[in-house]
Amino acid sequence: MPDLFRRGAGRLCLDFTRTLRHRGTEHAVEELPDGPALAAWVGQCGPVAPVPGSVVPAAIVRDAHELREAVYALVAAARTRAGAAAAGGAPRERVNQAAARTVPTPALGERGELRWYANDPVTSTLALVARDALDLVTSPAVQRIRECADPACDAVFLDGSRPGSRRWCSMDSCGNRAKKQRRRSESARVAV
Ligand SMILES: [Zn+2]
Repeated sequence: MPDLFRRGAGRLCLDFTRTLRHRGTEHAVEELPDGPALAAWVGQCGPVAPVPGSVVPAAIVRDAHELREAVYALVAAARTRAGAAAAGGAPRERVNQAAARTVPTPALGERGELRWYANDPVTSTLALVARDALDLVTSPAVQRIRECADPACDAVFLDGSRPGSRRWCSMDSCGNRAKKQRRRSESARVAV
């Protein structure tokens, strides 16, 4: 199955926040409108895929949306001088609650492979998202969160490059598009 969701932001929690595109604008696009979509995101981005056909209740989808917006608020606040706690008690509590839940368990398999287990892949992957967010907003890495250089993309990503000069949320999408555009304009110049 091809990847449905954008990833590559450098942190699981940042990939999760981009499932609401164009947040706060009239062009907002909800990529996780229902249980099957949330299960698909977990299957693509989490360590344990949900059992095919398993039902994700609407309440869990609502929880996931609330967690996502709380993570977004913490990250946004963490990038300011005020720091993550300035986001306020509600988002902090929401992320703390999700982080307290059970996360998927890693185990080394007989053939040396890493295996992951979870009784509830969706909830436990959301717990992983929450823990990742808490770790990120309290670490110096938060200073390396950048906005994608594509004006049509509002994604943020963690710049892990040594010089700190990464520009695109993902080389597969925005970076590639920019490269193609550059090539097109270069060949247009050559043609003139
Ligand atoms: Zn982008």
